[in-house]
Amino acid sequence: MTDSTPYIGRFAPSPTGPLHIGSLVAAMASYLDAKAHHGLWLVRIEDVDGDRNVAGADDHILASLRRCGMRWDGDVTWQSRRSALYEQALLRLGELVYPCGCSRKEIADSQLHLTGKQAQALIYPGTCRHGLAPGKIARALRLKVPRVPHCVVAFDDRWAGHVGQDLTDEVGDFVVKRADGFWAYQLAVVVDDGAQGVTDIVRGADLLDSTPRQLYLQQLLGLPTPSYLHVPVVLNESGEKLSKQTGATAFDHGAEPRQLLRDALLPAARFLGLDVQAESIADFWRAATPAWARLIQRP
Ligand code: GLU
Repeated sequence: MTDSTPYIGRFAPSPTGPLHIGSLVAAMASYLDAKAHHGLWLVRIEDVDGDRNVAGADDHILASLRRCGMRWDGDVTWQSRRSALYEQALLRLGELVYPCGCSRKEIADSQLHLTGKQAQALIYPGTCRHGLAPGKIARALRLKVPRVPHCVVAFDDRWAGHVGQDLTDEVGDFVVKRADGFWAYQLAVVVDDGAQGVTDIVRGADLLDSTPRQLYLQQLLGLPTPSYLHVPVVLNESGEKLSKQTGATAFDHGAEPRQLLRDALLPAARFLGLDVQAESIADFWRAATPAWARLIQRP
């Protein structure tokens, strides 16, 4: 890739609460990367998980982005309005998708013998792969992951370097439509990135582990694979990723711009390793964009 290659990036927050410093870091990295490459920066609200959505969080997130001086290109998209696209993708996956009647507990019980990395993940043992096991009712829809030979997916992340995962051993057949009827993140994100022509995905390293599943889905759906850059995630004092569940709080309480700069933008930039001095939000982005370009090269 060269600098003249068209660039379409995106920030794709789930509206589970207001932006906190951790999500601002992801937003900032994707915004800076798009700006440094004279690209487009899209915003997509990932509200497919109806149980986790918080009313009004989308508006709060968008308002905070604006107040931080981040301007998106085109219209914001909401995943909850794009079901028809996910339905089409499901049809395209055809017989590789099958109904599964297993609960999380059953899957966890089936892997009590596993050790190490495998024991920490919920790896589907394939119980319903050849038809619903007797007495089970269809809950989720799963996508078959080849077993012979193993499905090994690898890619070069612009931050994390070479990443490989054996989907057969470490993930197993995975859910594309959930038991509660909601579309699975893995399917929706791949369909949308493809439909929106996203070329460069910059997001938190908590999603590094999901990327091989997304690459596999892209291949099956005939979609191009974007380039990836996963930035480190901000941790709380107990070493957990900052999130609403781990007590992260909003940074934007309507404070005046200089305070937003001092309490949110500058700390987020420092976390990313950017040495930026600025007196105003506009100054900040003017200084941060070339600083990012020096720090991170696009291959
Ligand atoms: N919606 C996801 C989140 O808020 C991010 C998805 C992505 O960037 O691929 O964690």
